[in-house]
Amino acid sequence: MNDYENVLIGLEVHIQLTALKTKLFCACDADYRGKPPNTLTCPICLGLPGSLPVANEKSIEFATRLALALKCSINNRFYFFRKNYYYPDLPKGFQISQYNRAGGKAFADGGIIEIEIDETPKEILLNRIHLEEDPARIVHEGSISTSPYALIDYNRSGTTLIEVVSEPDMKSPAEAREYLKQLMSIVQYTGISDPSLEGAFRVDANISIKGHERSEVKNINSIKEVESALDHEIKRQKLAIKRGTKLIQETRHWDGEKTISLRSKEFEADYRYFPEQDLVPFEIDDEFIENVRNKLPEMPKERKIRYQKDYQLNEFDAGILVLDKNIADFFEEGIQLDKSFGPNEYKLYCNWLMNQVSRWLNENNKKISETRLKPQQLVDIIKTINENTISTKIASSFIEEMMKGTSISDIIKKTGKTVISDKEELESICREVIEENPKIVEDFKKNPKAIQALKGRVMKKKRS
Ligand SMILES: [Zn+2]
Repeated sequence: MNDYENVLIGLEVHIQLTALKTKLFCACDADYRGKPPNTLTCPICLGLPGSLPVANEKSIEFATRLALALKCSINNRFYFFRKNYYYPDLPKGFQISQYNRAGGKAFADGGIIEIEIDETPKEILLNRIHLEEDPARIVHEGSISTSPYALIDYNRSGTTLIEVVSEPDMKSPAEAREYLKQLMSIVQYTGISDPSLEGAFRVDANISIKGHERSEVKNINSIKEVESALDHEIKRQKLAIKRGTKLIQETRHWDGEKTISLRSKEFEADYRYFPEQDLVPFEIDDEFIENVRNKLPEMPKERKIRYQKDYQLNEFDAGILVLDKNIADFFEEGIQLDKSFGPNEYKLYCNWLMNQVSRWLNENNKKISETRLKPQQLVDIIKTINENTISTKIASSFIEEMMKGTSISDIIKKTGKTVISDKEELESICREVIEENPKIVEDFKKNPKAIQALKGRVMKKKRS
């Protein structure tokens, strides 16, 4: 039986619009990362009595951009709503958000994210996207469940979030992972956010087994963690059902190893949603939407098709290459540096980015822009391999130096590593090996794979 049969997963992703200079309803600096706590605040984002919010126009444009990229249908007229709850990260006692009931509307309804699992495409439907303000940041000493106290930084309070709410369309942690990868990529391409920044991409995951109550795991910060949390939560729920324990609707916390119950889930009525009277209704006309549409940058899917057509990359390679816009930009810049490059070199360049470079970036938890790697270095390494000066294996061992920005010719000089350039010398080594190993040569006549054993002996001799 399929382990994930009857599993329903829906994700709510909070994306911080990090490209906005100011907060959603005040002029405070929104770039709070690395700033001293509680220095970027004003009466509005501290929720002081008598302060009045003013909406950030750019946030409407950014939300429109994302709605178009996700193929949502934009609501031309909407109000902001108050979502009432008391928590220390929310000094007003309510969060200004959007609500799609009680006469309210989300920013945009519907939408689609296309994923692929084992080469089978699937469309995950979106329920809606909406704008809301981010609460302050609470820092717990140690674990959230045992922390003796919490620190609060109001610098984040009032920065802009877009929440993307999916339908419970995903069936497995792997589908959730692919969905998040695609969403993150689309967000990055729209230019409204750098989702790789700490806290810029936060996920609440709703999980249930068909016919049972669902739980919500709050505030998971990375795709990998979402996958682990889902995996754990599915196992927990299935075990509970097997044991005959009744599951309840609740909010849970992922601590990196397991999910812990935080509280029984609030129901919508608990939030006492009502229209935010301090803000006027918003009208978005079709002309505005068309203007944004015309300026919409190339999206990953379009770029993937272009790479298949212009650079003859296969669908799989093109799909992976375009996921991270910075990597894809690096690819395009690099392959244009050498006019002699053709499909073979494009493929090699792509492979280097996907394998050696990506592996190093993952292992060192860095973005390509944080290294000193230059597109020209990959051009040079591919040419050096093509000219048989070094083998791919040796070239791969250069990656650490390449990331420091060292040129390929300097690395070769420094390490003294080249394949034998003297053809005659290589030929004489080969002759010696053949003479010394008549048995392997005999084997080779029956089994071509035996060539590996001869190659190994040539390499060994060459090194000695
Ligand atoms: Zn402020």
